[in-house]
Amino acid sequence: MPLSRREFLKIMGGTTAALAFPSVMLQGCKRALERAAERTSVIWLQAQSCSGCSVSLLNTVNPDIATVVTQHISLNFHQTVMGATGHVAIKVIDEAVKKRRTGYVLIVEGSIPTKHENYCTLGIIDGHHVGIRKWVLDLANGAAAILAVGSCAAFGGIPAAQIRATGDNPTGAKAVTDIVSDTRKIINIPGCPPHPDWMVGTIMHLLLKGMPELDEFRRPKMYFNKTVHEQCEHLAAYRRGVFAQKWGEPGCLYKLGCLGMDTNCDIPRRKWLGINTCTGSGSGCIGCTEKPFPDYGNRGIYKHLTASLEEIQRIENPEIREAVLTLRKGGIING
Ligand code: SF4
Ligand code: SF4
Repeated sequence: MPLSRREFLKIMGGTTAALAFPSVMLQGCKRALERAAERTSVIWLQAQSCSGCSVSLLNTVNPDIATVVTQHISLNFHQTVMGATGHVAIKVIDEAVKKRRTGYVLIVEGSIPTKHENYCTLGIIDGHHVGIRKWVLDLANGAAAILAVGSCAAFGGIPAAQIRATGDNPTGAKAVTDIVSDTRKIINIPGCPPHPDWMVGTIMHLLLKGMPELDEFRRPKMYFNKTVHEQCEHLAAYRRGVFAQKWGEPGCLYKLGCLGMDTNCDIPRRKWLGINTCTGSGSGCIGCTEKPFPDYGNRGIYKHLTASLEEIQRIENPEIREAVLTLRKGGIING
């Protein structure tokens, strides 16, 4: 007989994740608890984030989230979905630091403010608010692997966007790789949000086979080794020169600012919820898995590439200069 949510929380004792999925998760709860000690501990911290990466994770389909947390990992801490609150919750990560626990997987969602600790704090220890940067640094020491999930944790993302006039960022938001000195155990899983398969698949790879192969931006190659453009449903239209001139029109979305050519991501094949893609839905790719997102210099997103004749003349490589000129003449790049 399944446990009630109340019984579940009681057994969990406030130290193990109590996700709000009573109907599916609680059925496997007893068995899962017995095996919890053998499963890999996961500590999930949320820094400057919108929680969209967590929401995306909860939508994982195969395996579903109940299977992940009852059979594969022991989600010891997740500030949004865990049942425990206050000191009982904070004790989990505080003890992990103080007792020098090791071997857990640390997952960070959101960017880290560096201008002031108080811009993002988590819990109170000895009467003082603890900055998220301190938690990340302290917990990074004992972690077997660190997953920076979402573009904010991987590259800074939206919280690190610049004020156009000054180039400044109000909180000094940084990626995990910018604050943790030993980057060898960090895996970046960017995306705004990342596809749940990328997160679950990377965790499973870590558990079963160890560190996945990474690209130069520390992204797992198994998900980020091809451009959106190469796999896009509009590629045939692009090759025929059929471009949408305004939203809703059929054709390639390049002239509306699609960044698929410069973006590595397998969404055109993997699809969101197995149903549709960013380009397929007609919005184009905003390049959310790449480091320059969302600023793209001063260009921003949903802007068609422009190049003035002066800018083109400054391109040193004559072949590239000629190619850009041809694209401009053909109206593929605006003047
Ligand atoms: S919509 Fe974007 S990704 Fe698709 S073919 Fe056009 S430019 Fe490439
Ligand atoms: S297709 Fe583009 S916008 Fe969509 S998830 Fe991939 S990188 Fe982000």
